Amino acid sequence: MKRTNPASPPARNASAAPASGKPRPAFPARLDTGAAAPVNRPGVAPAVQGRSTAPIAANTAPRGVGMDSVAVRHAMVRKLQAQGVSHPGVLAAMQAVERHRFVDTALANQAYEDTSLPIGLGQTISKPSVVARMLELLCQGREGRIGRVLDIGTGCGYQAAVLSHLVQEVYSIERLRALHEKARDNLRAFRLANVHLLFGDGMPGYPQGAPYAGIVAAAGGNDVPQAWIEQLAVGGRLVAPAVTDSGQQHLIVIERHAHGFTRSVLEPVLFVPLKSGVS
Ligand code: SAH
Repeated sequence: MKRTNPASPPARNASAAPASGKPRPAFPARLDTGAAAPVNRPGVAPAVQGRSTAPIAANTAPRGVGMDSVAVRHAMVRKLQAQGVSHPGVLAAMQAVERHRFVDTALANQAYEDTSLPIGLGQTISKPSVVARMLELLCQGREGRIGRVLDIGTGCGYQAAVLSHLVQEVYSIERLRALHEKARDNLRAFRLANVHLLFGDGMPGYPQGAPYAGIVAAAGGNDVPQAWIEQLAVGGRLVAPAVTDSGQQHLIVIERHAHGFTRSVLEPVLFVPLKSGVS
């Protein structure tokens, strides 16, 4: 099994329990501050392998953004607001996380444009408006930080970093080892104690961390895997792309209630494919 908490030194990574986490402050009421602001269960085979022991590297210098990135992010956030994103926590998290640190230096000057960008191995970091939209759907109507969230498709780790500002614990799983390691390297400098990186196939979810207050996927298949639905807590919400009867990929929101589920099909989207196995 591989679990990496990028904020922890290797010795602490060996812990099987999630970081306990101190109480966190509520969302900032105002946006314009620019402030960055598992339990093992017998009989459940984890889809997750290995463990990281890489040393902590200090890489806090901005790469390739020859501009005031707070101001540029603020402009990005204003555009998100203009596009209809209104959740204060989501907007504050998008303001706080330095997207330019998650892309190659050569692409850093495009980091705050509303565009998806390549992150290697044929994968892409979603565009900011899509990240904000999905996280708003995840958090909508819920006060303060929501509980444990499963993020399927870590990629470069950007969405996991944004989530870390919105939820209590993030379990983020990636099936491509090279990207899992890239995310670990990218996230290390942020010291996000509530982000747990997992290397493995997210198709069966991650039962060791279930039930989840939220599940969000950045890769889409022909349907939402049943395992994800089963791993939702009552009151929990899943936001994922999936191909619908129309033959097109759409955003799907599934909510678990005390006595069943509701499923909503939202706008068409274009995410990379959800694939089985690891590589
Ligand atoms: N949220 C990411 C987006 C990455 S793109 C970011 O902020 O960068 C989607 C990712 O999903 C890809 O890295 C892809 O390898 C991964 N993926 C696809 N199928 C998967 C699966 N079954 N389990 C885990 N990750 C998967």
